[in-house]
Amino acid sequence: MTPPTPQALPSTPQALPSTPQAWAEVDLDAYRQNVRTLAALAPTAQLMTVVKADAYGHGLLPVARAAREAGADWIGVATLDEALALRAAGDEGPLLCWLAAPGADFAAAARADVEVTASSAEQLAEVLAAADVPSTQLKVDTGLGRNGAFGDQWTDLVAAAARAVEGGARITGVWSHLACADEPSHPANDAQEARFREAVAELEAAGVDPGLRHLANSAALMTRPSAHFDLVRAGIATYGLPPDPTMPHDVPLTPVMSLRARLAAVKRVPAGQGVSYGYRHVTQRETTLGLVPIGYGEGVHRAATGRASAFFAGRRVPVVGTICMDQMVVDLGDLPARRGDVVTLFGPGTAGEPTAVDWAVASGTIAYEVVTGLGGRIQLVHTHDHDPGGTR
Ligand SMILES: *Cc1c(COP(=O)(O)O)cnc(C)c1O
Repeated sequence: MTPPTPQALPSTPQALPSTPQAWAEVDLDAYRQNVRTLAALAPTAQLMTVVKADAYGHGLLPVARAAREAGADWIGVATLDEALALRAAGDEGPLLCWLAAPGADFAAAARADVEVTASSAEQLAEVLAAADVPSTQLKVDTGLGRNGAFGDQWTDLVAAAARAVEGGARITGVWSHLACADEPSHPANDAQEARFREAVAELEAAGVDPGLRHLANSAALMTRPSAHFDLVRAGIATYGLPPDPTMPHDVPLTPVMSLRARLAAVKRVPAGQGVSYGYRHVTQRETTLGLVPIGYGEGVHRAATGRASAFFAGRRVPVVGTICMDQMVVDLGDLPARRGDVVTLFGPGTAGEPTAVDWAVASGTIAYEVVTGLGGRIQLVHTHDHDPGGTR
């Protein structure tokens, strides 16, 4: 029996060298400028830039580096894994994380000089057991109803913290998180701030120096100076986006991310042509359709069907028909277009293009979800990676 002859693979066409078909451009100059603008809004407080969830979809490591270049005093992340990824990449500055499941490796946190947060006496005990000279911040739930010690739990945590300090542990901060900061006149803001002051006073009365007191997120940083305390934690605003599409503010921020793609197909169709699944759109006249190779598999919301627009050749063009898993269609009218031409789904808005906020409104969500949810085949491309006027 003769051995099988190896089959030559069919020749594949050469892929275009490193030309992504869909990409999110992240302008690190705009990011650094936003960080500086926000720091100036809270001149008496330190600034923590929040880079959880892959820097809200903008890319953890380049964004964290840009944050330090722009003078961020602290970086904040949700999980210890995110913090350790930053340490592994060489970040050495003050770093806080706040969401630890039972069994979290607080010893690894201590070795890496990552500040952790205890939200209960039980969690404080885990932190204390993990290092010779343990150090932690304390989180009080002042009314968000999420993480943090609530009511009597806070009294217990304060007592445990006082004992821990006597035993040589360091309490480096006390903090809480607001529920309704994006509605500046909501009564919960005053109530939570008052409860926070009380909680800090309880800690002091127990003989514990609270260290850094912090409460404000982006919305409170922008609208509520009384909540600035010693440090402010800014996430969404550093990415140039408002906490809520309707939140009034006059802070000059530049959206950092632009979402772009190359048209995968272009065709001329007559009037009366149904477009995409379910024919939810039918052309009213002869027109040119462009196929955008991004869909809900990339995290663009199908709920934006019939409501969103894109930007092509300096004009707004409607996204027509149902948004599909990996593609959507734009109606280019009579604009000249060729396969491979670049279409922008959102950007800073300065040239007239839609913004992530426009897509949030079209999808019935907030800009956080629009940028953080992107994935699939979308590549991140960082521009202005080097800080020319670095203020390190
Ligand atoms: C995400 C987060 C922030 C940042 O919130 P923004 O609204 O994006 O500014 C601040 N603090 C905590 C605890 C967070 O989880």
